Amino acid sequence: MYNKIIIRYGEIGIKSKHTRRRFEHILKNNIEMALKRCNIEGNLEISHRRLILTVDSRDINKSISILRRIPGIVSFSPSLECNLNMKDIKKTSIEVFTKEIMKILRDRKEQENNITFSVKTKRVKKEFPSTSMEINKNIGGHIIKEFENIKLKNDILKNINLKVDLKNPKIYIGIEIIDRAYIFTETFKGVGGLPVGTQGKLLALLSDGIDSPVASYLMMKRGCNITFLHLKLTEEGLEKVKKLFSILNNYDPTSNLVIVDYRETLKRIDKTLKDIGKERYTCLICKRTMLRVAEEYAKKLGCDGIVIGDNIGQVASQTLKNITLINEGTSHLILRPLIGFDKVEIINIAKEIGTYNISISKEIKCFAVPKYPITQGNIDEVKKIEEIIK
Ligand code: ATP
Ligand code: MG
Repeated sequence: MYNKIIIRYGEIGIKSKHTRRRFEHILKNNIEMALKRCNIEGNLEISHRRLILTVDSRDINKSISILRRIPGIVSFSPSLECNLNMKDIKKTSIEVFTKEIMKILRDRKEQENNITFSVKTKRVKKEFPSTSMEINKNIGGHIIKEFENIKLKNDILKNINLKVDLKNPKIYIGIEIIDRAYIFTETFKGVGGLPVGTQGKLLALLSDGIDSPVASYLMMKRGCNITFLHLKLTEEGLEKVKKLFSILNNYDPTSNLVIVDYRETLKRIDKTLKDIGKERYTCLICKRTMLRVAEEYAKKLGCDGIVIGDNIGQVASQTLKNITLINEGTSHLILRPLIGFDKVEIINIAKEIGTYNISISKEIKCFAVPKYPITQGNIDEVKKIEEIIK
C-alpha cells in the first residue's frame, strides 16, 4: 500500500546551509546507488530537511533493509502521501488506520477487544494553518467517528472498542506536514552518523576477528570512504574476510578490498626473532610491519588515515607503551575507534551490523604468536631488531 518513504537525517541538519546542501546531495546519491545495486527503481527528492523516496509498493520491504544500512539516515517511515488539506489528511489517515488495525487483528494471538491508538503530527513546514495539536485532535476524533462505519463493513471488528492512549498506543498514526502530508504507522531506526563520502578516505586493516569490522563500520558511520586491506596469512582467514567485506560493503557500496600476501613476511620475522632469541617481540614487530605496508597503500590510494581495531589492554601488543612503539614506525594518521570500548560493547555492535557470526565462525590462530609476548617493549631494542630483519 505504501509507496513513499520519508527519510530523516540528524547531524546534517545542524550544518551551515552550504554544507547541508552538499551533504544532502551526497546522501541522496548514496541512497540512489544502493537502490540501483539491488535493482530497485526509485525517485528521491530533497524537501525541507527530509528526503522523500518514491518506490513501487512491492519494493518497500527491500528498500527498508537497504535504508537501514545507509550512514547519515537517522530514521525513516514508509508512508501514504496526500495533498495538504484536512479533507485529504482525514481520508488518508483512515486508510492507514484501517490497514493497521486489520493487520493487528489478523496477527493477534489472544482475544483482545480493546485497541488503543494515538495521532502525532509534526509540522516540518510551518505554513500549514492548523497547529500540530489541532491536527492530532481533528484526526483522532475523525478516526473514532469513522471507526463506527468501518465496523459495519468488517465483521472481524464487530466487538472491538477503540480508545485513545497517548502514552502507549497499540496503533500509532504519525503525520508529517512537508510540501505534502505523509501518514505512517512505523518508524525504522537508521545507522545515524554522516553520509559516506563527506569526510574523506581511509584505509582499514581488516582481519578475520571481531574488532576490525566494527572499527571500520564506525568510521563509515562517521562519513569516511573505506578501502579495506587484508594481510593474508591463511586461506581460511581470507574466506572469512571476504564474507565480512560483503557485509561491510552494504554500508558503503563504493568500498573495496585489497589483499596482500603476508605469510612469507611474517615467517621471516618469526624465524629471525627466534634465531636471535627475541621472539617476545614478534607481535610488536609484526604490527609495525603491517602498518608500514598499510601506509604504503594509504599513500598510493590517497587515504588520509589508517584504521585499526586496537583496544587498550586487549592483547599484549595493545598496551599503551606498545601502541606508542607501533605508531612510531609510521608517520600516517592512525585511527583506533575502539580504543576505549569494552569487549561486550564491541560484540554488541558486531551483532547489530551482522559481522559477529562470521568473525567467530572459525578461530584461526596465528602461527607466530610467542608464548610470552612482550607487553612493555623498548624502542632501542625494536630498532636493533628491525636492522637485522632488513
Ligand atoms: P580483531 O582485532 O579484528 O578482532 P585480531 O584480534 O585477530 O582481530 P589483533 O591481533 O587484535 O587482531 O590485531 C589488531 C588489529 O590489527 C586488528 O583489529 C586489525 O585492524 C589489524 N590486523 C590484525 N591482523 C590483520 C591482518 N591479517 N590483516 C589486516 N589487518 C590485521
Ligand atoms: Mg583484536
